[in-house]
Amino acid sequence: MLNKLLRPNVRGLTPYDSGPSAGIKLDANENPFPWPEKALAEIAEATAAAPGFNRYPDGAATELRAELGERLDLRREQVLVGNGADELIAVVLQTFGGPAQALLVQPPTFSMYGVLAAVTDTPLIEVPLQAEGQELDPDGIRRACRENLVSVIIVCNPNNPTGALFPRPLLADLLTSCGALVVVDEAYGEFAGPETSMMPYIGKYQNLLVMKTFSKAYGMAGLRLGYICGTAEAIALLNRVRQTYNVNVFTQRAGRAALRHSAAFAEQIAALRAETEKLYLGLRALPGLKVWPTRANFVLFQPRNAVAWGEALRQRGIAVRVFARLPVLGPCLRVSAGRPEETALFLRAAAELSAQGEPFQQTNAD
Ligand code: PMP
Repeated sequence: MLNKLLRPNVRGLTPYDSGPSAGIKLDANENPFPWPEKALAEIAEATAAAPGFNRYPDGAATELRAELGERLDLRREQVLVGNGADELIAVVLQTFGGPAQALLVQPPTFSMYGVLAAVTDTPLIEVPLQAEGQELDPDGIRRACRENLVSVIIVCNPNNPTGALFPRPLLADLLTSCGALVVVDEAYGEFAGPETSMMPYIGKYQNLLVMKTFSKAYGMAGLRLGYICGTAEAIALLNRVRQTYNVNVFTQRAGRAALRHSAAFAEQIAALRAETEKLYLGLRALPGLKVWPTRANFVLFQPRNAVAWGEALRQRGIAVRVFARLPVLGPCLRVSAGRPEETALFLRAAAELSAQGEPFQQTNAD
């Protein structure tokens, strides 16, 4: 009965399942380090003195947006915050998508783009990455934009889950040649370095939006805070659609503390880059694995039977992200940089599995 009443675009949807986890959590690209003690003490003190939980938050997140703007060399009017970047992707599609105009993405990429396109009833156009997931196909993207009404292109840079970084001039080309809004999702940008960011181009292109999150480098996945930057005009349009009180009192306070302590997070980012390098080199040294280069805090790799590897790692208490079948690349695993002892444990387990070889041969079911 309810099925008949459902909106057609919701009929085919299945709930997003982030998969089973394990003790050592290397499956969600989070920051594994504890929050800097001083930042934690600051928000604990402020919260004890004046929690403010009984009042609605500042719906405009005035101070947080001003402080973000100051750091980014943007005006507050050019920044919008959200309940995680996920919410902001939905807001972009609610504002610029819908049944009559498409979203263009480049698989394999972040799966929520497709989910939120379906939820917002926005047609999805996929132009696969080239060179085994390492390069964009700018001609293919331009062609798709000529042949369809594409209103939004999302480019994930560095890309999740391949780790590939796309050069800025190529993104600039898309901005001038596609006639669409280009959202550059820099959820992992802090790991690739500021010289890779499209943030400095914001004044230059009317149709550029740059999205970021506190979930990765800033260790706030549990508090849900993302932001998106663009021209004041574009941000005002998104602001029409977002929920009035989308970022809660505590998260606004924590976000401001994280910004005040960005030096401590810079140390964690440097440490995670070193762990990522260890993962990449360690996996590369094992026989029978294909390993993708990365500019993010994770490494994508492909053993002969990814699903069996994922399960064997889980039995050893290590959670990695299992992709039973990625578009273009097939079955793969993605492992996030952990604390040094976690990276070491993972690499030891991977060496064992790789040495066992035979039970992990590819099967047809895979
Ligand atoms: N973009 C990408 C590429 C991501 O990988 C993620 C999280 N996995 C997000 C956006 C969403 O981040 P948030 O936690 O801020 O919703």
